Amino acid sequence: MPGDDLYSVLGVSRDASADEIRSAYRRLARQYHPDVNPGNSEAEEKFKEISAAYAVLSDAEKRAQYDQYGVTEPFQGGVNPNDFLRDFGFGDIFEAFFGGGGRSDPWNERGGDEEVNVEVGLEEVLTGTEKEVRYKRLARCLACEGSGAKSGTKPETCATCSGRGSVTRLVQSFLGQMQTTAPCPACKGKGKTIKDPCPECKGRGLRVEETSLTVEVPAGVESGNTLRVSGKGSDGTGSGGTGDLYVALRVRADKRFAREGTTLFTVKEVTFAQAVLGDETEVEGIDSTVGFAIPPGTTHGHRFRLKGHGLPRLHGGSRGDLIVVAEIEVPNKLSDEQADLLRAYAASRGEILKEPSGSGFLGGLFGKKKG
Ligand SMILES: [Zn+2]
Ligand SMILES: [Zn+2]
Repeated sequence: MPGDDLYSVLGVSRDASADEIRSAYRRLARQYHPDVNPGNSEAEEKFKEISAAYAVLSDAEKRAQYDQYGVTEPFQGGVNPNDFLRDFGFGDIFEAFFGGGGRSDPWNERGGDEEVNVEVGLEEVLTGTEKEVRYKRLARCLACEGSGAKSGTKPETCATCSGRGSVTRLVQSFLGQMQTTAPCPACKGKGKTIKDPCPECKGRGLRVEETSLTVEVPAGVESGNTLRVSGKGSDGTGSGGTGDLYVALRVRADKRFAREGTTLFTVKEVTFAQAVLGDETEVEGIDSTVGFAIPPGTTHGHRFRLKGHGLPRLHGGSRGDLIVVAEIEVPNKLSDEQADLLRAYAASRGEILKEPSGSGFLGGLFGKKKG
């Protein structure tokens, strides 16, 4: 397993979002969990492998470290894949990782993930940047310390359900007496009731706050990339922990350049004489003026590849290329002297040019059609 790329273990790309990684793991874990494959040691090995990969890639810090240094400490020493097998059964593992499973505890719920959109320009893609983002999140109410009960009071065990959160009733049906279980109507399934709600948060224990945060946007990002900032989402209840902030990135369209991954494209106007005779010229790159040679006989649409003048890869490494597309200008206004020179040029090649009938382009065209 060491040496195996963790991304390929989970079958995701290196720039997969946290959500993509999570659902890839979830899918594979369901497929390979030992409880689903009793006695199949191959599946067990595979399960350990994907669990270890997920342990690293689901943690923003460990993932960043892995991206930078490859397999490192947290992976080798910090996570023993066997722990997953020892500590979790099939049901448990999903609950531990993904929540749900019917045993959720409203008093200790993880806070929600929040999302914010960030737009960056191509220059920022080149260098990486810091962006201040503003967003709303649920924060633990300071007045009641998150309990929802007015300061000096506490939530009380629900008298209707004795704290179970659900009530069982006997119902008469044509099959006889049946037992049904439903969420307790008195406490709405929470098991506790609040007599005097905290006036600051109206008993929720959480309040909406607007907050700001500086986010590091690495070089090389593309529209659709998402950054996860761990623990910056909404506060949870009790010991439920805080959600994450997802930063959805969009790269602004640029008039000067088209982009395909790390490759930039730009158009360079080339005069008729330059195209025919060749020239040393230059083009504006994203961060510098780049010189290049136009060889004699360059045709319209020709592409020049200027190595290393494109954008960097997301996880570091060399820059891509700048492709310069030649757009050859055909002169549409010549002085008499220039026209004479061109006629002389044509004559020297044995070309006989007839004066187009009518005046101007349209006149010539219609004149021809009439015969
Ligand atoms: Zn409160
Ligand atoms: Zn109740």
